[in-house]
Amino acid sequence: MIRYLATICAAALCLAVGASSAAAAEPPPSETRLVYGTGTIVPIPTSIPHEAGDMVDKRIVPDLRWIAQRYPIYVTDGYSGPLPDGGWSGCHGCHVAGSDHYNGLAVDIIPLVPSSTCDARWTGITRLALWAEPKQNKPVLPFRWVGYDGDSGHGCGHHLHLSWNHATVKRYALAEWVEVFPAAGVENMKQTRTKKTPKAPKAPPGPSGGISQAPTGGLSPRGD
Ligand SMILES: [Zn+2]
Repeated sequence: MIRYLATICAAALCLAVGASSAAAAEPPPSETRLVYGTGTIVPIPTSIPHEAGDMVDKRIVPDLRWIAQRYPIYVTDGYSGPLPDGGWSGCHGCHVAGSDHYNGLAVDIIPLVPSSTCDARWTGITRLALWAEPKQNKPVLPFRWVGYDGDSGHGCGHHLHLSWNHATVKRYALAEWVEVFPAAGVENMKQTRTKKTPKAPKAPPGPSGGISQAPTGGLSPRGD
């Protein structure tokens, strides 16, 4: 009986913790910027929990670090492709054609404390998914595609996919520009909420640009 009560209390506490963390959602990234310049595929820093060997384009690391400080994430895959030394990073054959994983601009995420069923351990990941995509198929910039509930092969109990918006680019190449939220700037937004949310990023020069919420520049409609 005592054990039974303890289980109930633990579950109730769990629900309470889940509810309070859901209420404490961060404001959306209302300002973003395009980062030009040569990207580099780098190992994910230790401050961002991840599977050994995972790498991403360096330009999204500050955003990832910001996310990791606020959400209980564990990155299971980032860049998926060849390395200059002849090796390979990431998962082979896991991603669709045109995946942003091939450019180091996408990550797959599960809870820091893993669980293969959609339980309280996923609360923080669901909160992150809703932050990046409050309405299905309408990701908030700088995110280009968010894979979660409602997307096959993704969702609570499976994994969350986040893709950053970027210039059209070939497989295994580095994009000319990447859209990010200024990680330090999001903190300041709480005090400067009067700033207007831009509808779309400035169209970059050149034929490869102009991608926003509706990618037309040859990017796959999904980035998983
Ligand atoms: Zn993915």
